[in-house]
Amino acid sequence: MSESDRLKSDIDELVPDLVAMRRDLHQHPELAFEEVRTSGIVAQRLRTLGLEVQTGIAKTGVVGLLRGGASKPGAKTIAIRADMDALPVHELNEIDYRSTIDGKMHACGHDGHTSILLAVANILSKRRAELSGSVKFVFQPAEESIGGAAPMVEEGAMQDVDAIIGLHLISDYPFGRIGVRTGAVFASADRFMLTVKGKGGHAAMPEASVDPIVISAYIVTALQTLISRETSPFSPAVITIGKIQAGTAFNIIPETAEMQGTLRAFSAEHREKLTRRIGEVATGIATSMGGSCHQEMINGCPVCVNDPGLTEIVREAALASVGEKKVDDSEAIMSTGSDDMACFLEAVPGCYFIVGTKNEGKGANYPHHHPRFNIDEDALPIGVEVLARAALDYLK
Ligand SMILES: [Zn+2]
Ligand SMILES: [Zn+2]
Repeated sequence: MSESDRLKSDIDELVPDLVAMRRDLHQHPELAFEEVRTSGIVAQRLRTLGLEVQTGIAKTGVVGLLRGGASKPGAKTIAIRADMDALPVHELNEIDYRSTIDGKMHACGHDGHTSILLAVANILSKRRAELSGSVKFVFQPAEESIGGAAPMVEEGAMQDVDAIIGLHLISDYPFGRIGVRTGAVFASADRFMLTVKGKGGHAAMPEASVDPIVISAYIVTALQTLISRETSPFSPAVITIGKIQAGTAFNIIPETAEMQGTLRAFSAEHREKLTRRIGEVATGIATSMGGSCHQEMINGCPVCVNDPGLTEIVREAALASVGEKKVDDSEAIMSTGSDDMACFLEAVPGCYFIVGTKNEGKGANYPHHHPRFNIDEDALPIGVEVLARAALDYLK
């Protein structure tokens, strides 16, 4: 049997356990930094496989180290990452492995990521003797909101790691396809708050007031010109004002108006420029109209940038797993969504790729974070295969 056939047959054997694990995690979703049950299962499984396990990294993060039996001094270490957290969504799927916790649900596929990585650990630990390097299995908490990757990096999870790979299952990408691309793949995501200060007064006597609502209306419109007039059509970016709040009654000009929005960009330079310009435009407009504006930026997630060398290794692994016709590297696989895998990719070179799980026939065609989100579970072994092949190729 060739090594490739041996890998496929090992994965086939694991499929029932892989699906059972995913369903068990699906039934017991845990939110950011509360992944106690999940990380307990992960740690216990990694220990059973004979890995060196560290728990409690960034509160509920787990790391398992597999030292290759054929490692020489200076041998490389590749990390593979999965996220474990669920979302505050009430599941509406009528399935026998539905979430058992009201208001919590694995509505992004992280249950799949965790079970895929446990299966990869199983596959690679069987090959320990032949591995000429180490594999670090990184299970992070809190991808969705607070961000568990950054504290894991701060606590040393990427020390002695040479490269990192990981995947996201994607429900609006056709089942069986793999999207892998060099450069920026997921956008940065920042939140900003603008507080416009005017001068309150009677709605019938605007000349005695400075109206922060009118100023805000100009700001909302002008901010869009940062994309349409100051950004190249070849450099995608998004500015959205998602919240606006002002006033108490129809006949009062309020004192202040507050806006909140999000900025998405695909390079650190563009992100920085737009951040600066949001402040300049908002302040400039407010000042010119007799008011003032205070800008507060909450730095969210950086851009996910894939390294060309690691991307090539993952691409080769994808080609070997699903064939040329099912591997994409077009811009269509980029996402203006963000993922804090970006923090690991800032620490070491790596590749983050997507695996399609969309299958209307199985009801797996709802968007991520939707109460009816689900995946075609046949994509799970595909994810296992690509990650395992890429890690084996990297250490060759
Ligand atoms: Zn998500
Ligand atoms: Zn996600």
